[in-house]
Amino acid sequence: MPQEPSNVALRIVTLSRYSSIIALLGYVPLLVVHQHFDKKTIFMPQKNGKVYLVGAGPGDPSLLTLRGRELLQQADAVFYDYLVNPQVLVHTKPSTEQICLGRHGHGRIHSQEEINALVLEAAQAGKIVVRLKGGDPAFFGRTAEEITSLESANIPYEVVPGVTAASAASSYAGIPLTHREHASSVAFITGQQCRDNDAHPLDLANLAKFPGTLVFYMGVTSAPQWSAQLIKHGKSASTPVAIVRRASLPQQQTVRTTLGELAEVLAPQKMRPPAIIIVGEAVEAETTTKWFQSRPLFGSSVLVTRPVHQATELVECLSNHGAAPLIQPAITIAPPSDWAPADQAIRNLRAYDWLVFSSVNGVEQFITRMDELGFDLRQLGNCQIAAIGPATAKALRQFHLRVDLQPNEYRAEALTEMLAPKTVGKRVLLLRASRGREVLAESLTAAGARVKQVVVYQSNDVEQADPEIMTALEAGQIDWMTVTSSAIARSLVHLFGGALAQTKLAAISPLTAKVLTEAGYPPSVVAKQYTTEGLVDAILNAADVS
Ligand code: SAH
Repeated sequence: MPQEPSNVALRIVTLSRYSSIIALLGYVPLLVVHQHFDKKTIFMPQKNGKVYLVGAGPGDPSLLTLRGRELLQQADAVFYDYLVNPQVLVHTKPSTEQICLGRHGHGRIHSQEEINALVLEAAQAGKIVVRLKGGDPAFFGRTAEEITSLESANIPYEVVPGVTAASAASSYAGIPLTHREHASSVAFITGQQCRDNDAHPLDLANLAKFPGTLVFYMGVTSAPQWSAQLIKHGKSASTPVAIVRRASLPQQQTVRTTLGELAEVLAPQKMRPPAIIIVGEAVEAETTTKWFQSRPLFGSSVLVTRPVHQATELVECLSNHGAAPLIQPAITIAPPSDWAPADQAIRNLRAYDWLVFSSVNGVEQFITRMDELGFDLRQLGNCQIAAIGPATAKALRQFHLRVDLQPNEYRAEALTEMLAPKTVGKRVLLLRASRGREVLAESLTAAGARVKQVVVYQSNDVEQADPEIMTALEAGQIDWMTVTSSAIARSLVHLFGGALAQTKLAAISPLTAKVLTEAGYPPSVVAKQYTTEGLVDAILNAADVS
């Protein structure tokens, strides 16, 4: 049956004599009635669901396709496999239902029949469903069965490919699957069908003669059987083998061995799934580099403690250097409890000579509020602008505003020193957090400025840490914790207490470092440039030395 033209389709019930006209319009009648004309039953508008079977890639969340991201943004419900990295779910809407179909610490493993039923039920309820599968749906993902189930229920669907584990292992571990001199073909094989009692056992006798690379998915536990069979049928025991576990993730491991020794290397307790096993002469060629595992922070777990919506830059920067970032916000940012004073200042901006921004949040909240009140940047025409540091100045640049003054050193004292001589007798508007230091207002007032402070955002402490993060910290499994402001430093001391001693702290500035030191947790490094890049540089330098 042809697919319906759009997600919001008409369920059509028609008399037989009208069915061809309906079909010409591109619709398919749900039911053709061979009866007298009944005006009431002809059209029943109804929302129709659709299912997208999407490959989520092998683990690295940035290997999701653009189409996959687009569909996650639209989804009402996402059903995902346990091998899918949950980090890709950040692309969903807050209202999207997220259902894990097994493991991940939560969710039990569902049978294929249960999965089919759940997906159908959601689609029949009119939902846009993303069925997210590890790697590529075409590789050992039981996709054909899911499609059959959708087709038999007349549910429209699309399939979106993804990066399969074999190709990720090849790129990220530097193991060629094909090679001009060693392998001109590749076989993708499941290790799940190697036991004697399987209904469709693998033809290992023929695979032993296959002229190319053999790639085994799900082959860890059955490796003793299939490797012995390959050798028995003539494949050399010295054939090179590479095992790549958790390809494309910060925990990636690569082990090289031979076919004869594979079973021993994979003995229980030595290496657990998921791993892909690559067998063949091309493995030894190793023409590609080990770029992934040799990145400076490879495998280090780093805790980012910024509010979630501000964590992206730091998370990406850390990931690019190979780290495994985790997020536990120490503070949250919210609008002020009362906008009235800020609104009054915004309406009266022409009365001010200077606007002073002391954080990125201040910039974003203030400009957004101005817009909400119906003003645009012309409202700032009379004012000079000062920013406390480079990140704040950068935030202003995003609104096409250039700063007139910015101290070299990112501290209130340095800003005061530069600003004080310029603001004698002038009207200065400080845009600040609900809590913050008074030093700027006090010093400028003392120097002769007419200062007005308005709160443009609230920063609140997070009261409780995610228990999984707490456990990892206590077990010494978090290598670094980034501390990106004094407020965050104070909140972290509350949130984690003595467990902070189990990690290395990286402070963004001497002021933040001071808060930590005074609380009894001196940081291991302090950024020289008080920015995200400066902080990551400080961690990189320390990693270099150790
Ligand atoms: N559709 C998936 C494969 C599903 S079968 C794909 O295209 O990749 C599950 C098997 O895939 C695992 O047992 C393992 O052999 C392999 N696999 C999946 N992700 C992996 C990863 N990140 N590293 C190594 N192997 C992986």
